[in-house]
Amino acid sequence: MYERRQARWFERTLFEYNLDDEEVNEVIKVLEEYLPSKLIRKKFLFPSLSEFEVVRHFTRLSQQNYGVDQGLYPLGSCTMKYNPRVNEDIASLDGFANLNPLQDPDEVQGLLELLYKLSEYLSKLTGMDYFSLQPAAGAQGELVGVLIMKKYFEVKGENRNEVIVPDTAHGTNPASVKMAGLKVVEVPSNRDGIIDPKIIRETVSDKTLGIMLTNPNTLGVYEDYIGEIADIIHGSDGLLYYDGANLNAILGWIRPGDMGFDITHVNLHKTFSTPHGGGGPGSGPVGVKSFLKDFLPVPIIEEVGGKYVFNWDLKHTIGKVHSFYGNVLIQLRALAYILRNGFEGLREVSGTALLNSNYLYEKLRSFNGVHPYPNNLKPRMHEFVLSVKELKDKYDVRARDIAKRIIDYGVYAPTIYFPTIVEEALMIEPTETASKKELDEFIDIFKMILDEVVNEKDKVLNSPLNTSVRRIDDAYASRPKTMKPTYKWGED
Ligand SMILES: *Cc1c(COP(=O)(O)O)cnc(C)c1O
Repeated sequence: MYERRQARWFERTLFEYNLDDEEVNEVIKVLEEYLPSKLIRKKFLFPSLSEFEVVRHFTRLSQQNYGVDQGLYPLGSCTMKYNPRVNEDIASLDGFANLNPLQDPDEVQGLLELLYKLSEYLSKLTGMDYFSLQPAAGAQGELVGVLIMKKYFEVKGENRNEVIVPDTAHGTNPASVKMAGLKVVEVPSNRDGIIDPKIIRETVSDKTLGIMLTNPNTLGVYEDYIGEIADIIHGSDGLLYYDGANLNAILGWIRPGDMGFDITHVNLHKTFSTPHGGGGPGSGPVGVKSFLKDFLPVPIIEEVGGKYVFNWDLKHTIGKVHSFYGNVLIQLRALAYILRNGFEGLREVSGTALLNSNYLYEKLRSFNGVHPYPNNLKPRMHEFVLSVKELKDKYDVRARDIAKRIIDYGVYAPTIYFPTIVEEALMIEPTETASKKELDEFIDIFKMILDEVVNEKDKVLNSPLNTSVRRIDDAYASRPKTMKPTYKWGED
């Protein structure tokens, strides 16, 4: 890392000082000590484009994009809230952004103190006792959690290999179980979209490591029987893993630790606001109850006599899971968000997220051709799922078509076809940062599109009509290696 920086510094120096050939050769010789020679440019490239042409090109490209800074982004399960700029100010402070990760802990006490504080706040907010900030996303947090469950039973000398996962779970849950070399035991949700304790009682065996749940679940419905489910799992000495992706629904009101969960991940980039959706970087800290502390990834940060130190000495640690201490600048953004809101502010965050979600839900569910899933009178939490199966049956218009048409009206589309148990699903999460005006506009857009389905179906089926890229080939997008594209760039 240090060497690469040094090399970059040399390269910049060359540009700035306008060296002659001989001097350039000298610098190249120095560079060759650090980098393989095939990576070193022997000649400087002079751009054939003017600066303003480059700026205009990239500005134009950025305008073809859509983000939370432009408008509503109701992508269910992803908590696409506005990211306050104070987070960016903090994360880009010189003293944080330019720290070298190899610096001695003694020299970065300030940073370690902040990360320690973040762990403490996360513990308080989730009801856990210890946190590792290392995992880079929710998915990695899950893998860490499952590996902890596995090791816990190895240490106890018990041979268990099954993890219970409901049919509404995010795909990363069963994937994490598989990656840990364990068996997924799927349980169905009931007609009300929640897990009936009866099915857990029937499924639990001496092979069960535990259960992975998110609460509220991915249908946006609170698991009414969570206490009973926890008792059954604990009754068989199993563990409960909390997928914290939906923490935005309960923040400041109820904690996974109090529901009976033993391990929790938190998606800092979702609940605690960091721009995400482009693939990273993210942060998915994992918290545990104290009896599992020794299994956490090393190192964890601890305070010893007013000094912050890395503790590498955890007896049953599953090992190290990320270089250095994870994505530290995301962690700082989350801390800034927590401190700026305060406890009462965070309660307001989730309270408003629920209010927005239910306002939208009550309006949209009343439209013709749209049905809530589950179809009952229970209020929703931070998100909700609608099925447009009736539109498919009557007009051959699918959830995908509705989503594409929404984009035409200048709003990002909801999540579609998830959870997979819901036919023609639209999963909508407005978050707390949507204003009532924005929600009303979205309701109007939705109504207009439903009218179009009846009167101008072709518009919906051919949408998006107003974007720089029209419909792409879905199958090719997900399996480019095994298929030939049916879409060519620039065809439209
Ligand atoms: C987003 C999400 C995950 C995975 O989190 P990443 O940070 O994207 O890896 C897991 N479960 C649920 C319910 C999610 O919404």
